Amino acid sequence: MLEKIVTKMEIPNYFLVEERIKTFKNWPFSDKNKCNVRNMAEAGFYSVATCKDDADAAKCFLCGKELDGWEASDDPWAEHKSHAAKCAFVQIGKKEDDLLLSEMLSIAKQYKINEAKRIAEVAKEQIDEKAKLVKRRCLIRK
Ligand SMILES: [Zn+2]
Repeated sequence: MLEKIVTKMEIPNYFLVEERIKTFKNWPFSDKNKCNVRNMAEAGFYSVATCKDDADAAKCFLCGKELDGWEASDDPWAEHKSHAAKCAFVQIGKKEDDLLLSEMLSIAKQYKINEAKRIAEVAKEQIDEKAKLVKRRCLIRK
């Protein structure tokens, strides 16, 4: 069901727990640890590691919160909650398999809202930059 929503709403694959699991290629913790790959992915995180130094950098697929410095005993849900309490995924607080359709849709909707905000922010920055340039040009002509 979630796969269909992801495709129809053009939402990145990171929305799916199985896709998030695939991103943890060099995760420094084993399955025995509380912050293992499955728990991380179920709590909404995917790996954003680029090299050995940031091997434990992970990001929430929904709110975009990035966390590193994980410890073996860390509970990914608890960490997510304490660093991003407003995240819609944290507020629902369920594993993907337990989500109701209405909850999935509300998460998908929140993603779209966050995405629109990000795009608007970039556009605003570009407009501000242009405005500065025009202003400078006007001052030079005086
Ligand atoms: Zn989040």
